[in-house]
Formats: sequence, structure tokens, C-alpha cells
Amino acid sequence: MKESLITVAYIAASALFILSLGGLSRQETARRGNIYGIIGMLIALVATVFAIKDGNYVMLAGAVIPGLAIGAVLAARVQMTSMPQLVAMLHSFVGLAAVLVGFGTYLGATKITADEVTVHLVETFIGVCIGAVTFTGSVIAYAKLQGTISGKPLMIPGRHVINLAMLVATVVLGVLFVMAPETAGLNYLIAATVITFILGLHFVMAIGGADMPVVVSMLNSYSGWAAAAAGFMLSNDLLIVTGALVGSSGAILSYIMCKGMNRSFISVMLGGFGTEGGTVASSSGEPEGEVRSVEAPGASDLLLNAKKIIIVPGYGLAVAQAQHSLAEVCKILKEKGVEVKFAIHPVAGRLPGHMNVLLAEANIPYDIVFEMDEINDEFPGTDVAWVIGANDIVNPSALDDPGSPIAGMPVLHVWESRDVIVMKRSMASGYAGVDNPLFYKENTLMLFGDAKKVVDEILTAMRG
Ligand code: NDP
Repeated sequence: MKESLITVAYIAASALFILSLGGLSRQETARRGNIYGIIGMLIALVATVFAIKDGNYVMLAGAVIPGLAIGAVLAARVQMTSMPQLVAMLHSFVGLAAVLVGFGTYLGATKITADEVTVHLVETFIGVCIGAVTFTGSVIAYAKLQGTISGKPLMIPGRHVINLAMLVATVVLGVLFVMAPETAGLNYLIAATVITFILGLHFVMAIGGADMPVVVSMLNSYSGWAAAAAGFMLSNDLLIVTGALVGSSGAILSYIMCKGMNRSFISVMLGGFGTEGGTVASSSGEPEGEVRSVEAPGASDLLLNAKKIIIVPGYGLAVAQAQHSLAEVCKILKEKGVEVKFAIHPVAGRLPGHMNVLLAEANIPYDIVFEMDEINDEFPGTDVAWVIGANDIVNPSALDDPGSPIAGMPVLHVWESRDVIVMKRSMASGYAGVDNPLFYKENTLMLFGDAKKVVDEILTAMRG
């Protein structure tokens, strides 16, 4: 009876997780998707606790309750702009958990029958290695995103050979581990763990700032596979299903991010794209031209007199938390008969879907929010492209300067509009550390200041 109840609960939780992913794929259904996920996780937690045979519940509560409390406080406190770091940190926990579960099962915490031994040893070895790469890779991703270490790619000479050597050594250790009798393979497992720790660390260190979106989604996928591997080790079907869902959705997201940046997955893995910690001029030298600026009242007039406006939000909008004031401005523009649309670049902000979340938070209608591919052709017929706190995603050098560190990355063609207003605090570069010739174009007007302050000023001017 107890077994059947647990199976039913696990099936229900798996179904809810699938519904959750389906819901999260569209803005209109994202909230519902989130709720499905929360209910699924609650069912999974309760069923897993219920499934423990002869368990030490006091010890379990001692581990789970502080974990729940710390997680709740961290999640409540985190700023939207620090979400990538939080996500990277959570991925590292999944990786570390897979490593610990691997060692635990190997040392006999879980009893298995003799004919399952080889399969079990292979599962354990793979699970520990994926977990170890995920753990150190995520810790480095966290440190890069947090700015604790430089986002610059670490380009050790012969690094591909070093990575290959580590990979070959891991495979050899895996074979020795599976062939070793009883627990005599422990040393091989420890050696492989150390090597894969270094592999994860080295491999994310070599990835440049501009590729971080792909790294975040890729580590998301790895953490899923690490969880699935832990599910195999613990013979827990729900963990296998959940891990596989996270692993495959993370892989799809990585593919979307790669496509958004026109990068192949292999070239991201090989590292070195983008820099941080200093501005990189384009290969054709410093951008040329005069910088023209405008104040809030002038920008307000330009916006009010336009027929069609495309707003391009970027990371600065999230930092300034200007989305609510922006929603008010959009309402006024709509009342005055101006057509307003939003253009979202796949890597805008610091998290996949970052801008969509911000706009949804301010109740901006979904039907005026468009992905880059849907709207990029509309800029030539647009009166004003209004860029708010974005930089790399509107940098024309990605298209016309083959020597640019972001060459080849698709960008929003804002400069094809009649006028462009770029709102940011200074002439500083964006995340990839690359100069932006857009600021010097003849049809560009710079509007300097904190995005929230300036949008509020525009709002006042429009109301006045
Ligand atoms: P960028 O980082 O290129 O530019 C953001 C701009 O916002 C800055 O140049 C900054 O200029 C401005 N800004 C910062 N704070 C404020 C403020 N308070 N008010 C007004 N402006 C402000 O962001 P984009 O969104 O254009 O591009 C995203 C970049 O982040 C890409 O390079 C992408 O690869 C990378 N990335 C994306 C991730 C993702 O998953 N989406 C994850 C990790 C990295 P100033 O200082 O002059 O104000």
C-alpha cells in the first residue's frame, strides 16, 4: 500500500514538472507553470520523506529544515540582477550532492545485488564525474558573475591538450575503478574526482564574459544530468525523471542561447570569446563621430510625436528597476495613439528570459513584446528606437567589424530607425567590454542618467 502510494505520488510529481516546463515556455502561462512546479516539488518532498524505511527523521529534519530556511531567506533577499549568481550557486550544490551521493553509495550506504554491480559502478563513476565538473564549474561561474574574479577568459597555452589529457585520464581511471574488486577502487574514484574538479574549474575559467549566458544554461543542464545520475545511484525514479527534464531543457536552452549569439556549442566550449575588465576597441580603432545628447523633456517630445516606437530593454533597466515607470510611460503613449512595441534580445540582461520577467512584473501586455527574430525587420519603418540600459545587444560592430570580440553575434538593428534614443549613465561599455559605435551615429541621441530617474523625468514631462 505504502509503495503504491509513493509510486502514484512520484508519477503525479513528474506530470506536474512536465506541465510546469510547458507553462514556463510562454509568458502568459509562466505563473501557472511555476505553481505546478511548486506543487510537484511539495508532493515529491513529502513522498520521499514518507518513503524512507527505518529512517532517522531527527537527523533528516536537522538537515532539511535549516536548508529550507536558508533557501527561503536567500531567495527572498536576492535582487533580480543577482539571479544568475544564485542560480550558479544552486547548480554547484546539485553537483556536490551528486559527488557525495556517489561516494556514499560506493562505500555501501546502499545495498545492491551482485549482478547489478558493474552497472552500478558505471553509474556511480559517471555521476561523480558529472557532479564534480558541475560543482567547480558552477563555483567559477558564480565568482565570474559576482565579479569576485575577472570575467576575462583564462587562456593557458596548450589548454585543449590539457583538457583532453584530463578527459583521457578520467576514462582510464573509470575502467580501473569498475574492474577493481569490492571497495578497492576508492582511490581511482578519488583521483577521478580531483581531476574532474580541475576540469570543471579550468573549462569555465577559459570561457569569456560574452559567453556567460551559454555557460549558465549549460551548467543548468549539467546539474540536471548530475541529479539524474544521483537518481540512478539511489534507485529513485523521480530523481531520474526530474534530472532528465532539467538536463534536457537546459540543453535546449543552451542551444537557443548559442543560436541567439550565433555561436556553435563547440566554439563556446573551446572558450575565449569576449573579455571583461577593460574596454576593447573595435579592430578599426576608436569609434568615430560626434556624440549628441538630449534631456528628458526633449526625449519626451520626440516620443510623443512619433507614430511608432520600439523599446529595447537591457540590463540597465533591471539595475535601475525602471520597469514600472516605463509601463506608465507606455500607457500615456498608447493613449496618445503611438504604437509601442518591445524588442527582446535572447541574451539581454543577465539571465535567460530576464527582460520578459521584468516586463511581466510591470504588467506590460505580452502582445506588444517581441523576440529579436520577430521584430528586427521592423526598425526601418520605426520613428524612434528607445534603448534603455542596453549596450552589447545593440552594438553594430557585431555585424560590420569582423575584428570585434563580439563579431557575428546577432544584434537588434536599432540604428535603422529614424531616430535612436540611448539611455544609460555614461559612455561605458557593456558586459562584453566592447566599444559601441551606435553612440556616435548621426541619428543617435544619448540620454545620460540612471534609467529610473530619467524615465520618471520623461513621465513628468509627458504628464506636464
Ligand atoms: P550590457 O551589459 O551590454 O549593457 C548594459 C548597460 O546598462 C551598460 O552599458 C550600462 O551603461 C547600463 N546601465 C547600468 N546600470 C544602469 C542604470 N542604473 N541606468 C541606466 N543604464 C544603466 O547589457 P545588455 O542587456 O545590452 O546585454 C547583455 C550582456 O550580458 C551580453 O553581453 C550578454 O552576453 C551578457 N550576459 C547575458 C546573460 C543572459 O543570460 N542574458 C548572462 C551573462 C551575461 P552605464 O554604466 O553607462 O550606465
